[in-house]
Amino acid sequence: MKITIIGAGIIGLSSAYYLNEAGYEVEVVDKSDLSEGCSFGNAGMIVPSHFIPLATPGIITKGLRWMFDAKSPFYIKPRMSLELAQWLWQFYKSCSSAKVESAIPALRDLSLFSKKCYQDLAQNPELNFNFEEEGLMMLFKNHKAQKEEIEVAEKANEIGIEAKVLNAEEVKSYETGTPTDVIGGVFYPGDAHLHPNVLMNQMMVYLKKRGVIFHGNTEVVGFDYNHEKVNAIKTKTQKTIKVDHLIIAGGSWTPKVLKFLKIKMLLQDGKGYSVTLKNQNDRPKIPSILTEAKVAMTPMGDDLRIGGTLEISNLSSKINRNRVAGILEAVPKYYPKLKPTMPDNQAIWHGFRPCSPDGLPYIGHSKKFENLTIASGHAMMGLSLGPATGRLITEMIQEQSPSIDIKLFDPHRF
Ligand SMILES: Cc1cc2nc3c(=O)[nH]c(=O)nc-3n(C[C@H](O)[C@H](O)[C@H](O)COP(=O)(O)OP(=O)(O)OC[C@H]3O[C@@H](n4cnc5c(N)ncnc54)[C@H](O)[C@@H]3O)c2cc1C
Repeated sequence: MKITIIGAGIIGLSSAYYLNEAGYEVEVVDKSDLSEGCSFGNAGMIVPSHFIPLATPGIITKGLRWMFDAKSPFYIKPRMSLELAQWLWQFYKSCSSAKVESAIPALRDLSLFSKKCYQDLAQNPELNFNFEEEGLMMLFKNHKAQKEEIEVAEKANEIGIEAKVLNAEEVKSYETGTPTDVIGGVFYPGDAHLHPNVLMNQMMVYLKKRGVIFHGNTEVVGFDYNHEKVNAIKTKTQKTIKVDHLIIAGGSWTPKVLKFLKIKMLLQDGKGYSVTLKNQNDRPKIPSILTEAKVAMTPMGDDLRIGGTLEISNLSSKINRNRVAGILEAVPKYYPKLKPTMPDNQAIWHGFRPCSPDGLPYIGHSKKFENLTIASGHAMMGLSLGPATGRLITEMIQEQSPSIDIKLFDPHRF
């Protein structure tokens, strides 16, 4: 049986990897030249520490405050849209303590499973994507953030994710790459990081060698289908690609693709930016999140990547320089020797995080078509959760019972 995957992001490629390994004929269709998408310029963190979904009690008040600050890490571009209104309503409903409590074990299990998959992938001699298990440092400068992070650390230890609360001196003894100016931090030794651009390129080369066919610059603009099955993909280049089994892993564009099949999915793009400083001698040794500013800093070989901001932008590629300035201005407050300057727009990467309203991914078979599987909505954690998603998709297609409980990831839950 041939499996056709729409989307060559980390979710599509991870699915292709495990399906190919399981012996399926696989082809991947993508509208880009296979170097775009959210999976390239992200912060490269593999973060089981992030077991709390985006929608949490208190986030609405924080979000509203941020909406009025041009340099803040969060923004929703106001627009008249039924989809956005429905998304916001479901987001609001997901912010209850009960919903968050039930989401936590699901995210933890998916994340730990995925990290194990990365450890195995790193053993593949043909893949060398700078996978490093150096942990993650959550840094804070004020007591409010400290209190919040200590609460998260306590919860982490309770659910089996190791977290160490550190004072300012202890942070310095861990972080020997460059001086820090913080009141403390929480260190998660179980987190890891990698170079996403290297991973994506190597996976593509590896998969091509193993016979996976890639159709780049091939935008899906419709389908041939009947009431049971999707029969073929229609592309912008007038090509028709016959389908045996279809996986839709279109990142933030997934609702647009599903609309051609009259399937509704609530998902908004969380646009973020990153800037990569090349040959940065002064750089942290340990990846970190600057918690008050919501900025991620990741050493990648000799480079340092700095990323942040979540703008619900309706897939707008416009670079909002104020927000990028907000990201870069935060850096010297935590690492006084690092003073990144504002680059021109060509050096600013942007990507769209596919955000579901409850912060959980959509992974599962369609209820409408017997040969359709959906994998999207991984929001801020798609890189972390990619391999586990690929494994789960493969297990589903093989009709095996999944390695972890996937009930909460039902693509039809809204
Ligand atoms: C600033 C930033 C930092 C981040 N840092 C991290 C991090 O440290 N760790 C982490 O785990 N996650 C991180 N993320 C999130 C992560 O990057 C995403 O969750 C992940 O890349 C999503 O992968 P995806 O495969 O679902 O989507 P994408 O990578 O966007 O892939 C979707 C693909 O579908 C294709 N497509 C869409 N529509 C069509 C169509 N009609 N026809 C054909 N092809 C189509 C697109 O061209 C695209 O290539 C970060 C994101 C941002 C923005």
